[in-house]
Amino acid sequence: MSERNAIPSALSGSPLTDAGEAGFDYSPVAMMPDVRVIKIGGQSIMDRGRAGLFPLLDEIVAAKDQHKLLLCCGGGTRARHIYAVASDLEMPTGVLAALGGYVPRQNARMLQMLLAKHGGLYMMHDDFEKLPLYFRLGCIPVLTGMPPFAYWEKPGPHGRIPANRTDAGVFLTAEVLGCRRAIFVKDEDGLFTDDPKKNPNATFIPRISARELVERDLDDMVVERVVIEYLQRARSCHELQIVNGLVRGNLTRALAGEDVGTIIYKD
Ligand code: ADP
Ligand code: MG
Repeated sequence: MSERNAIPSALSGSPLTDAGEAGFDYSPVAMMPDVRVIKIGGQSIMDRGRAGLFPLLDEIVAAKDQHKLLLCCGGGTRARHIYAVASDLEMPTGVLAALGGYVPRQNARMLQMLLAKHGGLYMMHDDFEKLPLYFRLGCIPVLTGMPPFAYWEKPGPHGRIPANRTDAGVFLTAEVLGCRRAIFVKDEDGLFTDDPKKNPNATFIPRISARELVERDLDDMVVERVVIEYLQRARSCHELQIVNGLVRGNLTRALAGEDVGTIIYKD
């Protein structure tokens, strides 16, 4: 048997399946830690039309010269509709993820157009390396929140609905850019002990660790469950902030570093 060829490097002899020397003990470079990654909720904000979105746009435009804002769109009701139709037609998870991905893109397109005169700019996933230029030009980049797994979406723990949707994409965006906190703009004051839309006795949780949140195993959540899983393994993004975007001034306060809403943190 001829010898294996290997280019000498730290991992040349590794099957890459064990923790190994280059395994878990690392601290990655924070590429753009000062970027504010903001999720504009699909059902929470976009689906409400101008009543939900326009006041937020005022806050975004007012903040854009003080902060580097990266806006990521959720999908909302239309995404839920295609998940329902495609599930009924027995489509696999990967197909649902691919189809559901079109909706947040539609929302991102509209958001970009609304912000065009203030520098709104639609960006693709591959355009991360252009962010320094966009910010230097005073732009407000707008991205779909949906991660590009699509047909390659992993089987989820809770059935066919893709586990990695726009909350996950927003979190992973903040993580790869090296941002300490990701902001989720939704339509409730933050995390509650239960869905406040269904349970009037639900109480507000201002601050909670990811581990405690997993232990509590709430019936319903304000962000996708995988995000809490990822948060515990995160190297850079150690906090999620969930704010009510329907309350005027909340986003501005969050951008100023105020702990408005709920903070979910990595222990
Ligand atoms: P997005 O618009 O970003 O997609 P979602 O509609 O998916 O947001 O999630 C936000 C919604 O989650 C809230 O409007 C609320 O009704 C619901 N929700 C479920 N469980 C909770 C909880 N424990 N605390 C707060 N909100 C919750
Ligand atoms: Mg959602």
